[in-house]
Amino acid sequence: MKIDGYTRVCGVMGNPVEHTMSPAIHNTLAQALGENLVYIPFHVPAGHAGDAVRGAYALNLLGMNVTVPYKRDVVPFLKEIDPLAETIGAVNTLVRTEGGFKGYNTDMPGLYRAMSEDGVGIEGEDVLILGAGGVARAVAILAVRKGARRILILNRTLEKAQRIAREVNGLAPAGVQPASALALEECASLPGDRYLAIQATNVGMFPKTEDAVIEETAFYRKVHTGYDLVFNPPRTRFMALVEENGGRAFGGLKMLLYQGIIAYELWTGAQVDAGLAEKAKEAMHIS
Ligand code: NAP
Repeated sequence: MKIDGYTRVCGVMGNPVEHTMSPAIHNTLAQALGENLVYIPFHVPAGHAGDAVRGAYALNLLGMNVTVPYKRDVVPFLKEIDPLAETIGAVNTLVRTEGGFKGYNTDMPGLYRAMSEDGVGIEGEDVLILGAGGVARAVAILAVRKGARRILILNRTLEKAQRIAREVNGLAPAGVQPASALALEECASLPGDRYLAIQATNVGMFPKTEDAVIEETAFYRKVHTGYDLVFNPPRTRFMALVEENGGRAFGGLKMLLYQGIIAYELWTGAQVDAGLAEKAKEAMHIS
């Protein structure tokens, strides 16, 4: 890779950031597309999110990804925020514009693009979300926006699931209340019987790869498709349990890949096709 006076810089800010796979995605895309662009990680110390955003703009960076714990902290330092990112309340991509960065959330469009490629639709589905953290909340917003028939949020801490259900019902068309909450221990007595289940807890992540948030077979029998957002390991115990009970199962690696690809497309205007996406996925070295 040649670096010269015209090289554009993008990067990811986070803390920690050392484990990130994003440089593999973006530098592979830049090389394959012949863009004079490099992508590097930036470890930002606690309390310096605003300095990092202003500094990145002053240094003429083309764009930034934002990861844990700064996805909310960067918002006050943006020139503009995309409506979806504003609704979700979290920004993971900064795009350089005249006078400041515009903030986007590419996590949910990334999940949606991954699901579409896997032939998994949301419209008219009974969507069951496991977890009520930041990502589960964003998934619930995606589900209501894409026309899910029913959205059931199951969480260990019931109040958090109830809060998200109320918020999501507020975003639904008038007269429709698709979202409801249930405690995790009630998982064996779900009302419906054919769910698209999206696993958005931390359970099953490396190194605790033998864990699944739910073990009951009665639950898995009701799942026709399971989407685990955990990407390491690429095949989780949740996925194995879904498949053992006759469902289709997918992991979180493709979501991770596409949130990066959509950011790259926003920065450069490039269109990344499926072949190039596969090349970037291989560069992540977990398949
Ligand atoms: P978070 O805000 O910390 O939420 C964690 C959720 O997991 C909470 O609902 C928590 O329940 C639940 N949980 C944790 N330990 C549990 C246990 N032992 N038993 C039952 N529930 C448990 O995390 P997040 O940021 O939303 O991230 C959630 C997942 O999404 C992570 O696995 C992360 O790797 C994945 N993710 C994937 C991508 C991708 O691109 N594929 C991107 C971002 C995140 P309580 O509310 O009861 O504590």
